[in-house]
Amino acid sequence: MKQLTIISGKGGTGKTTITASFAILADNPVIADADVDAPDLHLILAPKPFETIPYVGMKVAVKDHTLCKLCAECRKYCRFDAIDEELNIIEDLCEGCGVCAHVCPNDAISLKPTPAGYAYMSETRAGPMSHAVLKPGASTSGKLVTLVRENARKLARRYNRGLIIIDGPPGIGCPVIAAIVGVDLVLIVTEPSVTAIHDMERILEVVTHFRIPVLVCINKYDLNPSMTHKIEHYCKARNVKVAGKLPFDKTATRAMVAGKSVVEFNDSLLAQQLRILWKHIDMGLKNGYDDLL
Ligand code: SF4
Ligand code: SF4
Repeated sequence: MKQLTIISGKGGTGKTTITASFAILADNPVIADADVDAPDLHLILAPKPFETIPYVGMKVAVKDHTLCKLCAECRKYCRFDAIDEELNIIEDLCEGCGVCAHVCPNDAISLKPTPAGYAYMSETRAGPMSHAVLKPGASTSGKLVTLVRENARKLARRYNRGLIIIDGPPGIGCPVIAAIVGVDLVLIVTEPSVTAIHDMERILEVVTHFRIPVLVCINKYDLNPSMTHKIEHYCKARNVKVAGKLPFDKTATRAMVAGKSVVEFNDSLLAQQLRILWKHIDMGLKNGYDDLL
């Protein structure tokens, strides 16, 4: 089973547009939306869930009011202002550190896991899909990304699929690491702007640290040719291959509004370049990218 993760140093680089087209172009893939904080692949692939799994997030403090003697020790020691003047625990502010439970002389506080959202296994026109939704205000973690990836592997085994395409989270934090560990190839999507290059450099460091084969795609490359040249130069100096350059095209937005991937929407230059990019990546996944390490 091969796994490909598409990531970007920051949001808004067109990562999901590219992932959706790959999902349509690939032979029998499983799709995973690991961008659990801001998932939007469902807008294009319209998944229909057939299995829902509650996701339990971090623990928070819960008070048994019958045991509380209102001594206020818990409030005194809470560093996160998560206990109000009436000595009620404010769940949204609680970081689950457990100090209040430790200092309470009456064992009135315990830590309980809280429901934080749901993971789904769904069907889409591109193949089975693993994705998740967090409750508003719930903090994300690599744990939910790991669950989404586990479910994707289950789907791949259940439906005998040889490829998982993962839409990764932006940034360089714990969820990104959870989305790339153990995959066969990472595609970094960047665009020709100063901040995007800086973000790409940081994410490239993370990916090379884990010795995962990596390719770069420059989206909207024609918006700033000199900056695109700088990215190509930077990648060449680090022996990282630029697998594709995609033109700026409003088709990407129009396709998303229509609930379609770009390659389904029309045969624009962007769609053609996406097909060429996918062919390149697909060949690499089938024949190996060892030379990219
Ligand atoms: S668990 Fe920590 S953050 Fe939450 S209420 Fe207790 S002391 Fe405050
Ligand atoms: S420390 Fe325990 S007994 Fe004291 S106010 Fe907090 S919950 Fe109540």
